[in-house]
Amino acid sequence: MTKRTPVIAGNWKMNTDIKSSRELALQILELTDEVTGVTKIVCPPFVTIAEVSELLHGSSIQVGAQNVNSNPDGAFTGEISASMLSGLVNTVIVGHSERRTYNGESSVLVAAKAKAASKAGITPIICTGESINIRDSGDAVSFVSHQLSESLESFTNWESLIVAYEPVWAIGSGQAATSEQAQEMALICRQVIRELSGNMADSVPVLYGGSVNSVNISEFIGQPDIDGALVGGSSLKAKEYSKLVHIAATY
Ligand code: PEP
Repeated sequence: MTKRTPVIAGNWKMNTDIKSSRELALQILELTDEVTGVTKIVCPPFVTIAEVSELLHGSSIQVGAQNVNSNPDGAFTGEISASMLSGLVNTVIVGHSERRTYNGESSVLVAAKAKAASKAGITPIICTGESINIRDSGDAVSFVSHQLSESLESFTNWESLIVAYEPVWAIGSGQAATSEQAQEMALICRQVIRELSGNMADSVPVLYGGSVNSVNISEFIGQPDIDGALVGGSSLKAKEYSKLVHIAATY
């Protein structure tokens, strides 16, 4: 079986200001910089990326963005392009369900964002996941297969890609998926990657996201197709984030 480096990616969402993002980044640095064998990523809001990026420069902790525009430049008021982010971040979250829901982002747009990021040398973390209605109707597998395939449309840079399976109903709800549900869907994600990429599927990290904490992470990361976690709430507490990193390092 291919050994993939575990990934713990923290999505700070619309939380922290300059001062608190500084404090959080410094605490995370102190608690996790020495931990090896885990890819550590923090994704602050745009306005604090430069600050956090400077603080973490030269450390083992990578900085990511939470969104990117798919266009290279131009009249897109309030938007941020991949080339603006390049040099500041290594990764960017695209297709998070909150953006799909509140900003109406389609998988076609997500695919364009992933390609724009990739072209700028930034690794996209492509999120996919079904709503509770879709799960209850028994269509989760076909929905996620389709959503991820569309989100990966004409993507080619398979060496630099992370996929996150995040059931919408588990995000921020305190009701995580079971490890069986998460493994089943992570395997589906990997099959989609295999169909599109050929032999690269075994090297792409597939994460689980949705109410992950230091108590339940082992259930997920112990699954054969789950290579770590994309975490929201737990990434805003340095000690909790650090626990996730330390646990992931043992896999
Ligand atoms: C997320 O926003 O990607 C997420 C998984 O959030 P939480 O960990 O808070 O459920």
